[in-house]
Amino acid sequence: MGEKVDELRESLGVVADLHAAAGVLHWDQQTYMPPGGAGGRAMQLATLSQLAHERFVSDEMDALLEEAESKVADLDPDSDDARLIRKARRDFDKARKVPPEWVGEFTRITALAHQVWEKARAEADFPQFQPHLEKIVQLRRQYVDFFAPYDHVYDPLLDDFEPGMKTTEVKAVFDELRTEQIELVQAIAERGTPVDDSVVHRRFDEQKQWGFGMEVAKAIGYDFQRGRQDKSVHPFTVGFGTGDVRITTRFDPNFLNTALFGTMHETGHAMYEQGIDPAFDRTPLAEGASLGVHESQSRLWENLVGRSRAFWVAFYPRLQETFPGQLGDTDLETFYRAINKVECSLIRVEADEATYNLHVMLRFELEIALMQDTLAVGDLPEAWNTKSEEFLGIVPSDDAQGVLQDVHWSGGMIGYFPTYALGNLIAAQLWAKIEEDIADIERQIERGEFGELLSWLREHIHRHGAKFEPMELLKDITGTGLTAQPYLRYLRGKFGEIYDL
Ligand code: ZN
Repeated sequence: MGEKVDELRESLGVVADLHAAAGVLHWDQQTYMPPGGAGGRAMQLATLSQLAHERFVSDEMDALLEEAESKVADLDPDSDDARLIRKARRDFDKARKVPPEWVGEFTRITALAHQVWEKARAEADFPQFQPHLEKIVQLRRQYVDFFAPYDHVYDPLLDDFEPGMKTTEVKAVFDELRTEQIELVQAIAERGTPVDDSVVHRRFDEQKQWGFGMEVAKAIGYDFQRGRQDKSVHPFTVGFGTGDVRITTRFDPNFLNTALFGTMHETGHAMYEQGIDPAFDRTPLAEGASLGVHESQSRLWENLVGRSRAFWVAFYPRLQETFPGQLGDTDLETFYRAINKVECSLIRVEADEATYNLHVMLRFELEIALMQDTLAVGDLPEAWNTKSEEFLGIVPSDDAQGVLQDVHWSGGMIGYFPTYALGNLIAAQLWAKIEEDIADIERQIERGEFGELLSWLREHIHRHGAKFEPMELLKDITGTGLTAQPYLRYLRGKFGEIYDL
């Protein structure tokens, strides 16, 4: 048995190496590559992705999987080997449905589209990006057809990011969220004690922001021996094995939250990947259980920890020391309220916890319309603005503030956005369990101690990587599947207190 699995592991390892090499090129593209590199880089990425895909869906791989599967009955179904074989088979069956030519074309088109999107966003000029997005939507429709028959045209896309989740399930949970979240946001606007957040809009030196962010990332447990931080237009985390997991961030000299909470967010992602069992390196188990679970880790550190009063009991004195001119006159309570101000705003990544999911639901509905061909790409900016008015009560002044703000569509990532909202829900479900298991968690955070929290996450989530399916993992930890109630309870409790509702 061992030998067969070793052979399979070795072949999967080659595929993983090719993906990791492409990952390094992607990272470089978004951090240091000069604009002139765009054309060449698109070809390099296309070649690597196509090679990885061909190696993965080869007949040899199929044979190795079959041989390993024939022995799997002797294994504990929850053993690492049995789970590795199961996960590899699932990925294989999906990948085999997609022709290598499609993969090469998709990679080339999206690498170019990324460059165009950056420019179009900077110039708030959607028509520049439109033909690229049209091509991407067309390719994604082709992709979905590889998986016919399906219940919903969006299902095959969602499944790539959230294995096993169905569009109807997401719709059901979003319906439950939407009404209550809109009610809460309205109650805050109409009856809440106003919050003044001018303090976070003062001028903050970029180098000092960088230093403070690094200090926080280290304190909460990001291992810089196996990671680093750089700047990029859109913050992201990328890992090339558990020994090298990098984050990026961006800075706004006139808004403290951007880099501060962005860094905590990406650090949450990075600590997840650093915490995966190193024995899973170079296998399909060396990734998060799903993007929703991944996002639960980033949102947990960004919000449940980073936007809590307890966290700032520990860190506010240090932040004041870093920015005496900007924060010297502001007490902890005023600062805590400022970083938690609820306000319908245009930019998703900077949205507060109470409005964030509304941004996600807007994109979810538009993506479904694009895939169902009930919305043309050319009509997307107008549809975006209409939905923005409906969900958030505001309309972007230009497309950079609206339809062009996110990187995802330029990368062909349709079906990704719902995982952000799922991450919020999962984070709240996990936090309820953490509060049961670590009775003095709040006191620990006030003392700036995060070891026990990180160990809990390592034990229950991180180390397993993609060994378990997301809902299996969640049920195992919390005893229930996905539910919106802990998140809604958390929102009502926190913002009810801040806004005196
Ligand atoms: Zn994230």
